[in-house]
Amino acid sequence: MGTVHEVRIARRTGFCYGVREAVDKAKESADAGKRTHTLGQVVHNEGVIADLGARGVVSIAELSEAGAGSTVVIRAHGVTPAVRSAAEERGLEMIDGTCSWVIGEQRQLQGLVEDGYTIVLLGTPNHPEVVGLLGFAPDAIVVDDESDWDRIPRKKRMALITQSTQPPWKFERLAAFMVGRAHELKIINSVCPVTIRRQEDTVELARAVEFIVVVGGRQSANTRELTRLCEIVGTPAIQVERARDLTDASVFGDARIVGVTGGTSTPIEDLEAVAERILTMAGTGAAAANAHALAVAALGAAVTPAGRTTSLRGAAPMASGRAERDGQARSPARRVNLRAVPPPAPPAPVTAR
Ligand code: SF4
Repeated sequence: MGTVHEVRIARRTGFCYGVREAVDKAKESADAGKRTHTLGQVVHNEGVIADLGARGVVSIAELSEAGAGSTVVIRAHGVTPAVRSAAEERGLEMIDGTCSWVIGEQRQLQGLVEDGYTIVLLGTPNHPEVVGLLGFAPDAIVVDDESDWDRIPRKKRMALITQSTQPPWKFERLAAFMVGRAHELKIINSVCPVTIRRQEDTVELARAVEFIVVVGGRQSANTRELTRLCEIVGTPAIQVERARDLTDASVFGDARIVGVTGGTSTPIEDLEAVAERILTMAGTGAAAANAHALAVAALGAAVTPAGRTTSLRGAAPMASGRAERDGQARSPARRVNLRAVPPPAPPAPVTAR
């Protein structure tokens, strides 16, 4: 028998609005009877991909895999203008799921190129969002960790912009570094506010619990950053992709309150499934016996409008979490009555001379 008697889920969690809208667009297209593809996996989440697959949405790596007349959904990361042109040339219908925040970044980059700035882009090389952004500013210098920064030249007019999910502290540190490299430095803070809120809520949760489970893709930079922040707070943390990755109850030690948080492409249903699994495998007798009810209550106490999985009317929740737990294809819809949150305005430029 374990020691966990309570699981808390981070306050604002689940899909970010960009991911949610891209997933919804793929669902709507397939539900309208169109042969629907996503260019790359819309999110790296097994349950989400299975759910889309059940509706007939097929992920493709290249446009050449899409048959003539089919529909291609661009995911939230966006694509280069060249990819858009190629889709048009192939006669494919394109549904743009590019997140409005990323569209804002692309426009800002275009403006910086037109204004003749030497551009530094803080981002993970080869990340799809960065690849898409480089389509608007092919000569931008992409830097990631501090060890890269010596590659940044000294120029009269420079601009700094960032991939949306980079940690704010890294962006601020790079901005300070670049002040000494340019006569005129234009700084566009394009760190996504959803990412910042997610980090704030995770830190708040980590301070209130004895152990924390971070749920999200291993390759997801924003998920890894959440794990890192928990460690900085001093709360032991593990990162898993799904509930069934939790196999060893001993990791929880003698923790009594455990936290659960997730990246921006982790659906809330996965968080509920993880909460239930923690209680089942490491809970006290009473907690284990009531694991499901406690997990549902934890999610109900946590989710905010930004946390829901879909904006589509009457849609059932993702099959991922509950199906994984129950071994069933899809559970009955559990209604989470949440309002829409309008996306924030695109980032505003700040110029330092
Ligand atoms: S993290 Fe932010 S920028 Fe990226 S898809 Fe989500 S809402 Fe858009």
